[in-house]
Amino acid sequence: MVRIKEIFTSIQGEGPYVGYKQLFIRLCGCNLACSYCDTDFDAANSKEYRIDEILNIINQNTDCHSLSLTGGEPLLHTDFIKALGDKSNLKLYLETNGTLYDNLKEVIDYVSYISMDIKLPSAASLTPMWDEHEKFIKAALGKDLFVKVVFDKNITDVEIQKITDICKKNSVSLILQPMMQGIKPCVSSDFMTAVLDKCLNKYSNTRLIPQVHKFIEVI
Ligand code: SF4
Repeated sequence: MVRIKEIFTSIQGEGPYVGYKQLFIRLCGCNLACSYCDTDFDAANSKEYRIDEILNIINQNTDCHSLSLTGGEPLLHTDFIKALGDKSNLKLYLETNGTLYDNLKEVIDYVSYISMDIKLPSAASLTPMWDEHEKFIKAALGKDLFVKVVFDKNITDVEIQKITDICKKNSVSLILQPMMQGIKPCVSSDFMTAVLDKCLNKYSNTRLIPQVHKFIEVI
């Protein structure tokens, strides 16, 4: 059995797979507390499912590109991911905060895509976790992996240096994602362009992709 906050189909709104239809499973709980978090991952109003029930739902949605495991932090539920294992008829697309590298190692064989965050202290109001993020990338290498960085007007040159260094050293795509205020980025076009240019000066495999699902108004 696994406790699940919600299961739904929608359009992927972030990163290089934007626009693909996916089946989403939102798992409960998170090991971080980002100041900008707007996701309800509390166990209240969640529901328990058996693995065979989940597999039935997957089999009814095989027109989806993949199964997004999201949260919260899905890597808090490695037993569930292992139980799902290779029984899923959809490939697993992991959306993670990129800190639980030992948990990732337990399930890496079952995951096809990894969307991992690097958390900026300036945006998330967290202590720096550069080492954890880098250990996570090393555990994820060989998979279809990209790094997503949520930023706002407080992003610093030191942070830009750090994220481009880490991504360049490991040859991982870097996706800059402006924090949103409702359906609009919280920073101006000029500011976003300037941040992109600063990163491109240090690492060419960098893109700016805002959260598309916010302005096409899907979940
Ligand atoms: S890691 Fe994600 S789910 Fe967890 S607190 Fe931060 S934004 Fe919210």
